[in-house]
Amino acid sequence: EVRVRFAPSPTGNLHVGGARTALFNYLFARSNGGKFIIRIEDTDLERSTKESEEAVLRDLSWLGLNWDEGPDIGGSYGPYRQSERNALYKDYADKLVQSGHVYRCFCTNEELEKQKEIAKLNQLPPVYTGKWAYATDEEVQEELSKGTPYTYRFRVPKEGALQINDLIRGKVEWKFETLGDFVIMRSNGQPVYNFCVTVDDASMAISHVIRAEEHLPNTLRQALIYKALGFPMPKFAHVSLILAPDKSKLSKRHGATSVGQFKEMGFLPQAMVNYLALLGWGDGTPNEFFTLEELVEKFTIERVNKSGAVFDYTKLRWMNGHYMRLLPPAELVQLIGDHWKSKGFVTEPTGFIVEETLQLLKDGIDLLEDADNALLDLISYPLHANLATPECKPIVEDSLSEVAASLLAAYDNGELFAALEEGQTGWQKWVKSFGKELKRKGKALFMPLRLLLTGKLHGPDMGTSIVLLYKAGKSGAVAPGHG
Ligand code: GLU
Repeated sequence: EVRVRFAPSPTGNLHVGGARTALFNYLFARSNGGKFIIRIEDTDLERSTKESEEAVLRDLSWLGLNWDEGPDIGGSYGPYRQSERNALYKDYADKLVQSGHVYRCFCTNEELEKQKEIAKLNQLPPVYTGKWAYATDEEVQEELSKGTPYTYRFRVPKEGALQINDLIRGKVEWKFETLGDFVIMRSNGQPVYNFCVTVDDASMAISHVIRAEEHLPNTLRQALIYKALGFPMPKFAHVSLILAPDKSKLSKRHGATSVGQFKEMGFLPQAMVNYLALLGWGDGTPNEFFTLEELVEKFTIERVNKSGAVFDYTKLRWMNGHYMRLLPPAELVQLIGDHWKSKGFVTEPTGFIVEETLQLLKDGIDLLEDADNALLDLISYPLHANLATPECKPIVEDSLSEVAASLLAAYDNGELFAALEEGQTGWQKWVKSFGKELKRKGKALFMPLRLLLTGKLHGPDMGTSIVLLYKAGKSGAVAPGHG
């Protein structure tokens, strides 16, 4: 049975790299009728937090990558947090002592330091050369009875090599000679990371370990432990790094890197999933649009590329636009309304504001954030800043005072608001008679009017903007601070 796991360390947010690893695991499980498991690797107690665990799970759900076993839903191979599996690690460590794969090492830190220094002087690899690898039972018993602290050390063959056939990278081989006997459990009883991972993968019957390339070097230690435990080895697949456009490792300085940030900016999960899949995978055709279901259908691990994939923000944005335009209008209105509500732009997700904004945006919307800007643009009124610009000056001098005087009158006698109450038609009627009265039309009418009413010389269709401004202001739907 195919059983794969995504094993985040809950020390921060879900990074796009992690999300892609999770996605590939999910796709592999679903396309093979297998199980997708979440395991929380919280052995680093100081840096692990409950909030981070929750956030990671929330982001995975948001992406639609649902799991079959995990810390929140349980399963028959639990518990699914490493911090809750200490007894198991201890058990397996003791088993390995019994089978002779692991020995107790009573060396002090000073002794270990000295060994390292000597190795360095002789230009040898810094491997363990202490006596405990070959100590007699009596020597061990003596230290135990004295209560001397000890670590558990794994006995690595002195020569030979280990080879794996990585499903993405092909043959990878390591020689044992530079590894040296390594610690699997510290003297305080804390198991070491590589040991936990192996015990977990083995005892959770993981069939395929699909994870980030950075874990490739860990595979040697893990494979040795696997063999010693007598479990069948899983297959490994190491996914390449995600690179920034400048080919360095993608990091915060390049822009958003966590799924949560993209969600906040208004990216859709469909677009994220589609784009993440393309980071190192393709179905071999020029087609780039895949729903999650289509990905499940088409995904094979063999098609995952072993070279680093470049994260292209522009392309992701473009792809998001594609998914935005596919949404039924009512859904988009709901989505933008909720988004604005969560940002505090509106107190209620008021459909009409969204609808009017959408009408202004037409197809120019790639991202929920575009709608934010359109709304802020519509409702902002930096008239004082604009009047002084060289573009506005002639209008101000030529006609603004005249148009302003009549406009004020129309405000005062309620004529303008009465017209706006009737929406677009009301506005059209009013503006026509207003122009007639002033003997102005076209640019001579609309430029000063737009400047006075919106604070700007250019912008989306004026009638729509004004009606929207009026309605938004009246409903109080636009939260203070953004008006
Ligand atoms: N906890 C590791 C990480 O977050 C994953 C280890 C693994 O997949 O083996 O990078």
